[in-house]
Amino acid sequence: MALPLSNPQTQLPDLLHQLGIPAGEIARRGLRLFNEAQDLVVVETRATRGFLLQPRAAQAWREMQAAAAEDGIVLELVSAFRSIERQAELIRRKLDNGLALADILSVLAIPGTSEHHTGCAIDVTTPGGPPADESFEDTTAFAWLNAHAAQHGYTLSFPRGNPEGYLYEPWHWCFERERLLAGMA
Ligand SMILES: [Zn+2]
Repeated sequence: MALPLSNPQTQLPDLLHQLGIPAGEIARRGLRLFNEAQDLVVVETRATRGFLLQPRAAQAWREMQAAAAEDGIVLELVSAFRSIERQAELIRRKLDNGLALADILSVLAIPGTSEHHTGCAIDVTTPGGPPADESFEDTTAFAWLNAHAAQHGYTLSFPRGNPEGYLYEPWHWCFERERLLAGMA
């Protein structure tokens, strides 16, 4: 489990220990670990926030966004690359606010197990649409993605009844997911 982290002083087992996540939890849930992407580009900047993706995922996103625009659909990023440390920070903040770890882990992936670490996963919304909410499936943007995302290499990671046991996430799409899961990305 020796993964390279943004802060090389902290290894994943230590990080999980600090958060109170049992060492066997990742195996118990049948989750897999993802390496943090090292090669990232800024794909989009909104307000002061930059969204990072791996270069090929970024290129495919831009092409997909342009193709959607031609069909009158506006696609916007809500989230892209997220470091393992950042994932831990999000969990730490909720713990500090008094939330129970089990409840937190039902909505936030255990650090090390998020597809967002790879720089190939994106959370998508559309203007006026809900960010990271199941009702995104009722938008024309979601219908467009269902019909066209695969042509750009993006697939829905967590449909209803997904084998990982995650909640249905119509907003979360991943570039070349099969390749990623095969450990080739
Ligand atoms: Zn996501």
